[in-house]
Amino acid sequence: MLIDGHNRVVNYLRISVTERCNFRCQYCMPEKPFSWVPHENLLSYEDMFEFVKVSIDEGITKIRLTGGEPLLRANLDKFVHMISSYAPNIDLAITTNGYLLEETAEALRDAGLKRLNISLDSLKPKIAQKIAQKDVLDKVLRGIVKAHKLGLKIKINCVPLEGINDNEIVDLLEFCKSQGWEIRFIEYMENSFANVKKGLNTTEIQEKIKQKYNFTKLPRVGSSPSQSYQLDDGYIFGIIEPHADDFCSDCNRIRLTAEGFLIPCLYFEDAMSIRDAIKEKDIKQAASILKEVLKNKPEKNKWGSEDNSNRAFYETGG
Ligand code: SAM
Repeated sequence: MLIDGHNRVVNYLRISVTERCNFRCQYCMPEKPFSWVPHENLLSYEDMFEFVKVSIDEGITKIRLTGGEPLLRANLDKFVHMISSYAPNIDLAITTNGYLLEETAEALRDAGLKRLNISLDSLKPKIAQKIAQKDVLDKVLRGIVKAHKLGLKIKINCVPLEGINDNEIVDLLEFCKSQGWEIRFIEYMENSFANVKKGLNTTEIQEKIKQKYNFTKLPRVGSSPSQSYQLDDGYIFGIIEPHADDFCSDCNRIRLTAEGFLIPCLYFEDAMSIRDAIKEKDIKQAASILKEVLKNKPEKNKWGSEDNSNRAFYETGG
């Protein structure tokens, strides 16, 4: 079992397999970055898998592949297969914008994937295009429907932005309810890479839903950052409320970037590289770096302080 310096059990590893993305979402990466990490600096799947094995052996039970856009990295199913063959009971999921799902969902399912979280910010083609800066909606919806038909469990993520998609909160909720998908609204997290005037906070999101539905707040389960709410008819939706800032106390996660940096907290600059240890196949050293990073995991995130991270969400995987 992995325990950090503040007695929290850490069992969740998020891996950003690439920082590159095929969308330019205004809240994340409105402009293509000045430079990308060169391909040769990325860890290969074999490298990442070496670290995955160390992590699982030490106590990681949940892994999420994210990015950038993870489906942009070729043969992601190969990596999924490596992980699910090594640990068939691992809770393995992917967070994706869904654009390439139509082409990849079947191979991912066959490789052992069970769950997908998919960004869907609007049901209006023009608004989806405005947010992602690309005409994406039809293809994304086809991908989600295909993945659902293949038996993958679907959760939808939506970031409500004032004056852009905030009048679609109820429509998105109803659409997801009709499809049997849970929706989670994410409070916009301010960051220097975004180009957004204002996102809606949890109170504003709830107000929109209250205009049509009664709902109750459910007790928080495990270490999920999502607060669940239940409509009177039983449908459960979530709101990820980083501004409420109360999920550090049982934070269970660490992040690995595509270059090999192990990051103890989204809002904390310090990170350590496992790259050399993995390249040299020094498993003991990789395990020792993992423990060192856990020892240094801050008790509380450093959002707003000078120790806050300058990394973009597309680099860390959000
Ligand atoms: N490309 C994938 C996608 O679109 O889901 C995975 C990477 S994306 C960085 C992971 C998650 O971070 C998405 O759910 C996205 O909505 C969320 N995200 C990115 N920037 C955000 C921001 N500024 N505030 C809140 N959520 C953000």
